[in-house]
Amino acid sequence: MRVHRPSRCGCISSVCAIIGNPNALWPSDQLGGMDSTDADEIDPDFCPTDDSMPMLGLGTWENTDAEQCAESVRFALETGYRHIDTAQIYNNEEAVGEGIARADVDREDVFLATKIWTSNLAHDDVLSTARESLSRLGVGYVDLLYVHWPAEAYEPTETLSAFSKLHEEGRVRNVGVSNFQPEQVVEAIDICEAPIVANQVELHPLLQQEQLREACEQYDVSVVAYSPLARGAVFEVDVLNEIAAKHGVSEAAVSLAWLREQGVTAIPKATGEDHIRDNWESLALELDQEDHNAIASIDRTKREVDPSFAPWN
Ligand code: NAP
Repeated sequence: MRVHRPSRCGCISSVCAIIGNPNALWPSDQLGGMDSTDADEIDPDFCPTDDSMPMLGLGTWENTDAEQCAESVRFALETGYRHIDTAQIYNNEEAVGEGIARADVDREDVFLATKIWTSNLAHDDVLSTARESLSRLGVGYVDLLYVHWPAEAYEPTETLSAFSKLHEEGRVRNVGVSNFQPEQVVEAIDICEAPIVANQVELHPLLQQEQLREACEQYDVSVVAYSPLARGAVFEVDVLNEIAAKHGVSEAAVSLAWLREQGVTAIPKATGEDHIRDNWESLALELDQEDHNAIASIDRTKREVDPSFAPWN
């Protein structure tokens, strides 16, 4: 995966397939009311396209109603999203695949990520269940395959050699990890023949994860923020309420713009068209230094996702 270094505001990878993509929609009326940059003004160098990971994706956890999930994915792709995130454990890979098939967007323009669940992380199970995932998704390859958690059947050498094999076979374009602590990322980099391109972790203004981000940057591993809206908690924070009111946008947009400007990819889960559109519009929002200072001052570190098997517990 090509990793793009920031040209002007902290992007590590590509924002999107908006630029130069005829399928991408960015109707000017969607941007009404935003006192920030116009989409047309976005510098193509700022958000290059092609095979890198778009910085805004669609999350799908708990989007388990098959029809609704397929429609969310279709609508997101037709809105301009080019990055879709799912996992074996979400029980929706088939519906996600259906949404991709329905959308008027070519498969090769979509950056599709899934994750191998913890019980499937023994070497042979990685190989067999990854193939099952591809079959459920209806695709010949995924753009990114994550180790979902370093837990249960995760054994670095065994697990990652299977990921490397899938990478070598071309079934998996990129290998990623999720919920890894810095030392586990370093260990995975040392062991895995394929590059570890991303670490997907919980990250939002209420859990800013500076140390983890610094460690990932040091090793050239992109950070992907899950629960980037803190599962709705961002709507209840005064600092974010004030920034949102100042720019005339939602707190969701503020959180997503903050992540993007920190160089972090975000994959908000949204089901209905309004939320999918609202999150997309965050790409047009630019925060100022005062906003960044205010968000940096938020002193909270409560996790939304904190199972007992997490490596930090
Ligand atoms: P999230 O994206 O922070 O929040 C999702 C919630 O926010 C949903 O209730 C959604 O409602 C609502 N929402 C979305 N956009 C909104 C908007 N513009 N205005 C108001 N409400 C809005 O939480 P998440 O689902 O935990 O995280 C996102 C994705 O990250 C997941 O779907 C999954 O793909 C991934 N994830 C990965 C892991 C991991 O272990 N790797 C863990 C958790 C999540 P609607 O659904 O009604 O739109």
